[in-house]
Formats: sequence, C-alpha cells, structure tokens
Amino acid sequence: MKRGMCPGTFDPVTSGHIDIIERAAALLDELVVAVALSPDKGGGPLFSIDERCDFIETATEHLRNVWVRPFDTLLVEFASEVGASVIIKGLRAVTDFEREFQMAQLNYRISPDIETMFIMAIPEYMYLSSSAVKEIARHGGPVEGLVPQQVYDALAERLVESRQGRT
Ligand code: ADP
Repeated sequence: MKRGMCPGTFDPVTSGHIDIIERAAALLDELVVAVALSPDKGGGPLFSIDERCDFIETATEHLRNVWVRPFDTLLVEFASEVGASVIIKGLRAVTDFEREFQMAQLNYRISPDIETMFIMAIPEYMYLSSSAVKEIARHGGPVEGLVPQQVYDALAERLVESRQGRT
C-alpha cells in the first residue's frame, strides 16, 4: 500500500494543482492532499482553511483514493502522521526548481525515509499560479478554465465583497 501526500497552500486550488493531484493519484494507492494553514503567506490567504479544503474536496470527488486534510505542523511530521512515504510536488518552470530543491533537501535531512518526487506541469498550466489567478480575477479578467467552477464562483463573490468593503 503506497500512500503519498500532495502539499500546498491552495489559495485557491487551480486547474494546475488538480492536474498534478489526478496524475499523482493514478500512480499511488492513496493520496492525501495536505492543505497548509499558511496564515502569513502573501499577507494572509484569501480563503479560509475550510474553504480551501472544501474546494479541493469538490474538485476531486471523482477520485476515490484522494482525501483532503488541513495541517499546521512541519510537512514531514504531518506526512509521518498520516502514513505517507512520498511527497509529490508539481514543478512548473526552472523558477520553481531552486525553492523545491532546497525544501526537498531539508525535508530529507529531517526524515530520510520520506521521499520527495516531482511531476512536471503540462504546458497549458505551466504559467498558472494561485496568485496569478487572484490578480487576474481582482481586475475582472477571465479565469474560466484556470480554476474549478466552485472556485470561479467563490472568487467572483469574494472580490465583490472586498470591493464593497472598501466603499
Ligand atoms: P506553496 O504554498 O508551496 O507555494 P501552492 O499551493 O502554490 O503551494 O502549490 C502547491 C504545489 O503545487 C507546489 O508544489 C507547486 O509547485 C505546485 N503547483 C502550483 N501550480 C502548479 C501548476 N500550474 N502546475 C503544476 N504544479 C503546480
């Protein structure tokens, strides 16, 4: 039984994340999508931890071997806690590599029994990130196809709320 973990902040989950989750789930018996609380990332997440988990749960309903869990501890500690022996990360461009390589080395130093593996982004999602999606949506740009439908609706709603809050 091979259980893996796909970690991230997922604020919000994008089609690029879902592609990696689907491909990782096809390689493993079970996959835990680990959603980091990340209270300080980029001035604080746009969506709460419950909302971020809920978006992923809905978008992965078709994947029977995927479950979603929030965490706020060291990644490798959480991986051990849920019995995952492999951490799967998506790699977009060379720019991701340096940071991911560093994290993989540090995680290996803490827990050498947990392996980190990378899945390359497909060209269509190579330049897709949660922050780019939020930036485009904030300016009223088109994000159809870049995020799951539930996220698309929630983004529109949240950004209207924040505009109203400012007036
Ligand atoms: P983090 O908090 O580590 O920045 P993210 O939520 O932004 O996490 O991303 C989680 C993981 O998904 C990372 O490994 C990242 O490289 C990967 N990822 C993000 N966007 C894409 C994409 N468009 N295609 C493939 N992998 C991606």
